[in-house]
Formats: sequence, C-alpha cells, structure tokens
Amino acid sequence: MEELKNIIRDIPDFPKKGIVFKDITTLLADGRSFHRMVDLIAHRYLGQKIDQVVGVEARGFILGSALAYKLGTGVTLVRKPGKLPYKTRRKTYELEYGTDTLEIHEDAFKPGARVIIADDLLATGGTMAAVLDLVEDLGAEVVECAFMAELEFLEGRKRLPEGKVYSLLQF
Ligand code: IMP
Repeated sequence: MEELKNIIRDIPDFPKKGIVFKDITTLLADGRSFHRMVDLIAHRYLGQKIDQVVGVEARGFILGSALAYKLGTGVTLVRKPGKLPYKTRRKTYELEYGTDTLEIHEDAFKPGARVIIADDLLATGGTMAAVLDLVEDLGAEVVECAFMAELEFLEGRKRLPEGKVYSLLQF
C-alpha cells in the first residue's frame, strides 16, 4: 500500500495558496498502480449483490467505471449542473467559499437498487454527503462510498453514515 501512496504526489498551493493538493493523476497514469488500485477496491465488493456504481464528476468517473466493469454493473453519472440531458434532481452544498451543485438523472435507479458511490478522494466530506442525499432520495440503497484516498485529518467520514465509507489509501 505504501507503494501506491508514494506514487500520489503533493502539489503545494493548488488550487490556492496554503492547500497541499494530492495529485492522483500519477497513480492513474501508471498501469501497474492503476490496475492494482482498481483490483483492491473491486475485491471488496465481488460476491456482494451490487446493482449499480455511481461515479462523481470528474475523477470519480474513472474509478467508478473501472469498478462497474469489474463488478459487471452499469455506471451512473453525477455531474455538474447543466451537463445531463434528461430530467434531473439537483443538490446544492456548501464549500469553504461559496456553494457547488451536483445533478443526477431522476430515473437513475430501479427501486431498492444497491449501489456503490465512487470518487477519487475524501476531503471534508461535503461532496459525498450531497451525492449520498441525491442517491438515497431516488430510492437506492448505498452499500458503501468508495474512495482511492482519504485525507483523514479533515475528518470527512464524520459527515457520512458510519460504516458506509471505504478508502484504499489514507493520508
Ligand atoms: P470534499 O467535498 O471536501 O470531501 O472534497 C472532495 C472532492 O474534492 C472530491 O470530488 C475530490 O475530487 C476533490 N478534492 C479535494 N481535495 C483534493 C485533493 O487534494 N486531491 C484531489 N481531489 C481533491
């Protein structure tokens, strides 16, 4: 696991001064690491009844689609406003400065569908809390929220339901 952690690089002062951004593109770009990361996360869910994987724009699409492929499910997109063509439900949530909005197609799930939500990184948990609301409001059951990496010092998992958060790599 240390090998996978070490391939993620720190970018100081991105996107703004004082923030050290974890750049996971280096992990995605390395074939062996990408393969291992997807296999390790997918292994957790193989053999469980999973109906759908949800990917969160934009880096969550990458893990989400790879996981869906491994699990033999479809992948559902949660996107920034105005990108999805059919009728949507939307959720606006607070950021450190201002707000952000995410959307999902209103017919995304069959009733009671068991879903995994995938994103690249858990920071404060605000994004995933909003996605969870969107998914649950549409009648799906969230089995787990799966992340490649988690910034533990931001305690994002405290904003999410206990026992429903999994991260492969912790910082
Ligand atoms: P949160 O809502 O504070 O948990 O932030 C998580 C969202 O912001 C995820 O969709 C991530 O893609 C993105 N994010 C926040 N910090 C980082 C980082 O250091 N590296 C990569 N993505 C990040």
